[in-house]
Amino acid sequence: MIASVLPTYSRAPLSFVKGSGAWLIEADGRRFLDLGAGIAVNALGHAHPALTEALTQQAGALWHTSNLYQIPQQQALADKLVAHTFADTVFFTNSGTESCELAVKMARKYYHDKGQPERVEIITFSGSFHGRSSAGIAAAGSEKMTKGFGPLLGGFTHLDFGDHDALTAAITEKTCAVLVEPVQGEGGIRPLPDACLKGLRDLCDEHGVLMILDEVQCGVGRTGKLFAHEWSGIAPDIMMVAKGIGGGFPLGAVLATENAASGMTAGTHGSTYGGNPLGCAVGCAVLDIVAEPEFLADVNRKAGTLRQKLEGLVAAHPTVFEGVRGAGLMLGLKCKVAPADLVNAGYAEEVITVPAADNVVRLLPPLNITDEEIAEAVARLDRAASTLGAA
Ligand SMILES: *Cc1c(COP(=O)(O)O)cnc(C)c1O
Repeated sequence: MIASVLPTYSRAPLSFVKGSGAWLIEADGRRFLDLGAGIAVNALGHAHPALTEALTQQAGALWHTSNLYQIPQQQALADKLVAHTFADTVFFTNSGTESCELAVKMARKYYHDKGQPERVEIITFSGSFHGRSSAGIAAAGSEKMTKGFGPLLGGFTHLDFGDHDALTAAITEKTCAVLVEPVQGEGGIRPLPDACLKGLRDLCDEHGVLMILDEVQCGVGRTGKLFAHEWSGIAPDIMMVAKGIGGGFPLGAVLATENAASGMTAGTHGSTYGGNPLGCAVGCAVLDIVAEPEFLADVNRKAGTLRQKLEGLVAAHPTVFEGVRGAGLMLGLKCKVAPADLVNAGYAEEVITVPAADNVVRLLPPLNITDEEIAEAVARLDRAASTLGAA
């Protein structure tokens, strides 16, 4: 008999009932150190007082109206995002994959309105993840995500991640956009080198192609800049955001330049919940903390500490680990064992990690994890690794 919850996930036998900062408390009372943060969602950990305050205050005032009316919290969050980024305008969604839907529509509408309706092709890369909607799976294109779900949304060209020559050759007069994660998350914490991102920007400019960045996982302070592309000094035309921006409340956004968004006039797109007062009140509270230069400086300092400790961990367990990679507090342990084995060994030591593709275990701690918690987390990972691999 089918489970009452549609069984699309194979879930660990863990039920968390409470959280505080980087800690999750299991129903049986065990205290887990959380290096997953709900897959890069709980950017400020669990039950952060400023976020709880923002949410409960809004909950006592007004939950939902409609985008038929002005929504002050939405306006405030849009203004903050525009002030802090390349963007001139923002549309709010409830998830990453909804942001993908709009990014694709926006890029195609741009060329349609410029009198080039044949320009609909979007170039994407192997190992990418853009969510589970029809546009999201077609964009990623992997058999794992698309098999059985045809006919797929057309117009995507899939290239090998990081192959600049293939990219140059693939751009045609039908190409409207290139869509890429600056740091692949699900694909196994694979950063696109700064030089590649710059080269990609140049190529887009040269051919009049829009650059769409998917910063759903790597954005909102995760890499030590507010958005990951800032490290390379370039800016996209369109950017997808979600996960960390809501700190645990379902919230996403598409950020765009005035030019790229020019086709999206009244009536061309919408969302019932997108930009709802609850989500945007929390989003404002998240951004007020994460966008502070001192906060980001601290993320970078702690990222250095964690990375150094992980290098030590890798060196201490050469049969378990191959290396560390990633950026900021978005790190991956490339494993010689099955990632699921390390994740399960971590559960036994009460530390939470997240598996990814390419034999990688992801570490995505809350950005406000403390130095003591980092040390404790690595000690737990060390004990977990000791139970694996040849002694
Ligand atoms: C998680 C993720 C998505 C999808 O977000 P959902 O909120 O699950 O729809 C899209 N892109 C990237 C890079 C992600 O990590």
